[in-house]
Amino acid sequence: MLKVTLATGNSHKVDEINLIAKDYNIEFILPKGEFNPIEDSDNFLGNAYCKAKCASQAQSTDLYLADDSGLCVEALDGAPGIYSARYAPSAKERINKLLNVMKDKENRSAKFVCAMVVVDKFGKILFQTQQECLGSILREEKGHNGFGYDPIFYVTSQGKGMAQLSDIQKSKVSHRAKALNKVLDWIKNEYSKNQDK
Ligand code: IMP
Repeated sequence: MLKVTLATGNSHKVDEINLIAKDYNIEFILPKGEFNPIEDSDNFLGNAYCKAKCASQAQSTDLYLADDSGLCVEALDGAPGIYSARYAPSAKERINKLLNVMKDKENRSAKFVCAMVVVDKFGKILFQTQQECLGSILREEKGHNGFGYDPIFYVTSQGKGMAQLSDIQKSKVSHRAKALNKVLDWIKNEYSKNQDK
């Protein structure tokens, strides 16, 4: 089984990604040792690269995958975007702040964005992708699954709130699932084949 370090301190994310990857012979694991990346880019791909490079310094696996994601709201010129995690101190406060800012907005279009970058143990970029899940901001919370902004995000393709989807359903349509499937295809069809040569 191929082990890939997932550059995150969030074990919920490791579980979510291992669920999406369950049919591939790959196990995603938390970084070994200290993991304190400085995310100083102004875009998702740049911040994902900062995390991947930081995790690769442990040189504990051959591949390091990092993601950076967030919610971009059209009426707010893409905010909170790369600042989604820091929009307010807690998940509840972030939701309340966004609902409040959106109170009088007619245009409720929004998207979750996920950038993923794979680097080797020297920090060299081997693959990168950025994917989206399209939707809109609900007027009130719906559903109890997921995390973060899920309770106020309506997924257009499903006709339901993200927090109303089961983990399995979310793992088929989310921005993270779409990006991860690109990464998994790259590992299976390009990286692994070159390793066998
Ligand atoms: P990260 O870069 O993946 O850690 O995500 C940054 C922030 O974006 C998170 O703290 C969440 O607030 C938000 N976010 C990212 N993905 C999701 C998701 O799938 N559901 C809800 N919120 C998300």
